[in-house]
Amino acid sequence: MAKPAIRVAVPVPVPGLFDYELPKNGPKPAAGTRVKVPFGRRSVFGVVMEIGPAGIDPKRLKPVTSVLDEAPVLDDHLRAFCSWLSRYYLHPIGEVVAAALPAELRRGEAPRIRPPEPRWALTDEGAEIDPDTLGRAVRQRAVLEHLSAGPAQHGDLLAESGADRGVCDALEEKGWITRVEAGTEAARPGPELTRDQRRAVDAIRSAPGFEAFLLNGVTGSGKTEVYLSAIEPVVADGGQALVLVPEIGLTPQLIRRFEERLGGRVAAVHSGRTDLERLDVWERARTGQAAVVIGTRSALFTPMAKLKLIVIDEEHDGSFKQQDGLHYSARDAGVKRAQMLDVPIILGSATPSLESLHNAQEGRYGHLRLEHRIGSAGLPHAEVIDLRHHPAEDGICEPAYARIAHHLRHDEQVLVFLNRRGYAPVLMCHACGWMALCHRCDARLTLHQGAGQLRCHHCGSSQGQPPLCPECGSSRLLTVGEGTEKLQDSLEKRFPDRPVIRIDRDTIRSQRRLQESLEMIRSGRSAILLGTQMLAKGHHFPGVTLSLVVNLDQALFSADFRASEKAAQLLLQVAGRAGRGERPGTLLLQTHHPEHSLFSTVLQQGYETFGEELMRERRAAAFPPFGHLALLRGEATRRDQVRDFLDRAASIAPALEAVHVYGPMPAPMERRAGRLRMQILVQSMERTELFRFLRPWVAALYELPEANRVRWSIDVDPLEGV
Ligand code: ADP
Ligand code: ZN
Ligand code: ZN
Repeated sequence: MAKPAIRVAVPVPVPGLFDYELPKNGPKPAAGTRVKVPFGRRSVFGVVMEIGPAGIDPKRLKPVTSVLDEAPVLDDHLRAFCSWLSRYYLHPIGEVVAAALPAELRRGEAPRIRPPEPRWALTDEGAEIDPDTLGRAVRQRAVLEHLSAGPAQHGDLLAESGADRGVCDALEEKGWITRVEAGTEAARPGPELTRDQRRAVDAIRSAPGFEAFLLNGVTGSGKTEVYLSAIEPVVADGGQALVLVPEIGLTPQLIRRFEERLGGRVAAVHSGRTDLERLDVWERARTGQAAVVIGTRSALFTPMAKLKLIVIDEEHDGSFKQQDGLHYSARDAGVKRAQMLDVPIILGSATPSLESLHNAQEGRYGHLRLEHRIGSAGLPHAEVIDLRHHPAEDGICEPAYARIAHHLRHDEQVLVFLNRRGYAPVLMCHACGWMALCHRCDARLTLHQGAGQLRCHHCGSSQGQPPLCPECGSSRLLTVGEGTEKLQDSLEKRFPDRPVIRIDRDTIRSQRRLQESLEMIRSGRSAILLGTQMLAKGHHFPGVTLSLVVNLDQALFSADFRASEKAAQLLLQVAGRAGRGERPGTLLLQTHHPEHSLFSTVLQQGYETFGEELMRERRAAAFPPFGHLALLRGEATRRDQVRDFLDRAASIAPALEAVHVYGPMPAPMERRAGRLRMQILVQSMERTELFRFLRPWVAALYELPEANRVRWSIDVDPLEGV
């Protein structure tokens, strides 16, 4: 019988728990509490996972240095959840636990709640003020305008209005705004549900325990309203709900909508939050002060003792998958968390992932549909322009320009979508054929003309734009293709009397800038909105009546097996931006391949029919959702180091009949940021067989001497790179 020890998850890239000596007398640290422990020559913070039989000679056990917590920071459920993540994603438990804790707790700080920041609301008197009488007091005016939509948290209000604390104090002094206590506001009742919505909400509410629902409904069909109606009774009963949204989807408007409908006790975590603010949300959720947490991927780990419902909005979105460290999918792991807690989970999307569609078709998920858009507008009407007959000199062809002009003449808004930022993706020399390439990646540099720079969109390196060809000295440098910056030029030349509001990562450097641009758009004045997916996802633009997709053809030639699925989703996201108000919208697509089913099937027969087509291909290729994949990636500064490691890895791979091993082969972009990247793909039709292969193999990889000379990782259910 092995002697019991304190078994600790230590944040190091080594699998397994580390054992420490139980104190001979005095209290034992409880499972889930943090301890400071000696590790090699360092001292680190870990989390006690269990008290159990030691895995090493008891004489070698060292005592823990100190115990940090009285109450566990990771409850039984979250510890079990972390263990599952570690087993499923084949990632060291210590790093999984570290990923589950807010940064402040990883650094040994104590959990705490910040003194509540004020929450502001208009007084009756304030609501009477006509903003136009405020003249030059622009910031006061901005505060009043923001609050006219409902109460707001101090920090959010300042961020959105650009005001400072003094402005709020001045307005409070005047009696126009007042502090309200969070959670005390009356929840605003929702609209009466449509029949489809009612049916969906009833199904979710009557789930006896764990059940996954795919809520499949076009943009504007009322999915968010279904989430809210499903959450309302949970909160009323003293329970908690967790809502995960894509990085791009967590807008102040969405947070406010939740706050209004649920009466305050909503906490939001987004990437703009500081570590202290994140800790605050974490602690509010853990202590039950927050009834609803809305957040991006990492909010999945929020401790909620009374968690009764999980929602994953836009479940198909790639941002739910973490691409480094612990390669987890917050959607898939969310389903597991719901199952462990025996509570329902809603996966919502207008364009579900094939994985979720397949699960719904197989009956594993309840399939709830919202067939119609709310309101009078109806679905946008789609038109395809064949670029083979209509050349697009500067990215946009004449018939498309004519349509834009038509909508602008009617004082409407037009959205122009192109998923490529910068001026042009290629700069080349007309005389000798030289092309601007990144020295660190297998990639071309993108010209950013306004900044006078060539930038690599893969490693971030940049250099000045050369005045002459560096090879032959010719001055005849020309650009090929176009990005949003160039389209902005073209559109401004064509339509000098209309603002072109460009939204991409180059023009929008902060949440504040984004809010300003969105405000301009929401004012409803006729304008051209131009942007990348930053513009295409998540926002409501009731004034847009025409959406133009400039170019999606590159998806047709991509080696990535998910490219068509992603492109179809993006196409419909863009379509969903148009005509959400009273007026119907039009989607205009420019393409050289109008007959391709990506365009013809999606636009004529709908996303699900196209999904069926893709699924037939996936089944034939044994790709997800039918076959199961894992990728072993390796990278190093020298090719032979990666090669040696992956060759060794391949040589010790277990031989299983139902599992196929492909590679080593170069990664899709072999050289990136100066490192050479290769991979091995593992594929099986049986998930259990895949894991029967992976478990011993990955454990053995840690023992390989070659593994120390490369950076390597295992990616179960990879989203990219296959
Ligand atoms: P989705 O999340 O599918 O895009 P939303 O829930 O945001 O759809 O609904 C679109 C719009 O319709 C919103 O402005 C919402 O307030 C409104 N809405 C949703 N359901 C109803 C309903 N049953 N009655 C009236 N308006 C509704
Ligand atoms: Zn040249
Ligand atoms: Zn680069």
